[in-house]
This record gives sequence, structure tokens and C-alpha cells, in this order.
Amino acid sequence: MIHKIAPYLCFAILVISAKAIAAGNTLAIDAGHSKLHFGATSASGKPEFAFNAQLAQTISDVIAAHGVEVVRIGYDGTITNLKDRTQLANAAEARFFLSIHHDSVQSQFLKTVHANGVTHNESDYASGFSLFVSRKNADVETSLKCANAIGAALMAKGLHPSFHHAEKIRGENREWANQENGVYYYDDLIVLKTANMPAVLLEAGVIVNRQEEAALQTPAMQNTIAAAVETGLSECKMITPTH
Ligand SMILES: [Zn+2]
Repeated sequence: MIHKIAPYLCFAILVISAKAIAAGNTLAIDAGHSKLHFGATSASGKPEFAFNAQLAQTISDVIAAHGVEVVRIGYDGTITNLKDRTQLANAAEARFFLSIHHDSVQSQFLKTVHANGVTHNESDYASGFSLFVSRKNADVETSLKCANAIGAALMAKGLHPSFHHAEKIRGENREWANQENGVYYYDDLIVLKTANMPAVLLEAGVIVNRQEEAALQTPAMQNTIAAAVETGLSECKMITPTH
């Protein structure tokens, strides 16, 4: 009898271990906001969601080349509930959650510009990237490690962090986790605190800043940011270097 049962057992064990490997080898990359709730509006009037979806796609392709599964969350713009995002990552047992956003400034720093019959709000008050981690996340230590590594990699590519979220004003006032690497604490960000795995939110740049918006729309800049995320995630051991 044993020789008849054994193949089934072996098969079952193989299936279980393949599933375990797949689960441990999965990263979740989230495109912030949706078509309905599109986030900030850029200097030229484009929705933040479009920037997020494009960059999340570029980053996901780079990360997937490392032989990992990437759970691509919200790229079609239909997810409006924040907890649905982390639920997808949690169900896939992803080992890391990265949420991609693009930044704005407080309304008092926006100026209204009328050009060609169209009105835009823009600001050169701030520029640069920001990273956020939550102390309510299940793995704060790894979240911080990855955020710091991504920040350091972005700076190594010539980009700079923005300090405007630390200003002691209404709507900002964020505490630094690591100022040098542009990492803030934002404990109550829903996607960060409801992820079962280490989680980081990246504000890739400030799209109300006309100059920065133009740069962020170029494939060259998107590839640079994706390469920095790749280096950072490799530094904090979320992916294995390919070279
Ligand atoms: Zn956003």
C-alpha cells in the first residue's frame, strides 16, 4: 500500500513547499489612489494617480526581473478602499509592501496660475522625495531598514529628500525617522499599519512643482527611481541582487 500512497504524499509535500516558496518570494507594489479619488493635481493639471500607476508599473517590472512574484495593486485605478490594498498583499503573504505616491504641498504654498485659458495650482516651495514608515506596522525594524536603504539609493542617484513634511505647521509636523535619508514616521497611514509585512510609502517627488513634474514624467527619471528602489530592496534583503 505504501508505494501507492507515497506518490500522493510526495506530490502534496511538493505542492505545499512550492506554495511556501512562492509566498516567501512575493512583493506587493501598490499604486496609490484611484481614478475616482486621484490624489493631488500636478502643476499641469494631471491626476496623481496617473503618475503613481506609471511609476509603480516601472518599479514592478524591474523588481519582477529578480525572479520574484510582484502583486500589482491598484494599477487599473479601481481600488478605492485602502484596506483592500493591504488585504491583497496579506492574502498573497507578500514579504514586503511598497506604496507609490507623488507629493504636493499645503494649500497656502500653492499659487494659482492662469495660462491659455486654463487655471493651475503650482508651487516651487518644495521638491524631492519622501519616505514614510509606521510604528504601528508589524515589522517596524525591517520597514525602517528598507526605507533608509531606498532613501540612500535615491540620493546616490543624485536625487534629494524633501524636508517640508517636518515643518511645524498644520497638516505636516511629521517626526523624522531618519532625516539624512528622507524617512519620516507616519504611524496612522492605513496601508502601512494594516500590512502584515514590512511596509514603506514612497512619495517619489513633488508634482505641484512644475520643474519636478516635468522630470518625473520622463522614462529616464522613472527608470532612475526604479533602479534606486531595486538597490534599496536588495540592500535590505527583500530581493536578491542579479549582478
Ligand atoms: Zn498620494
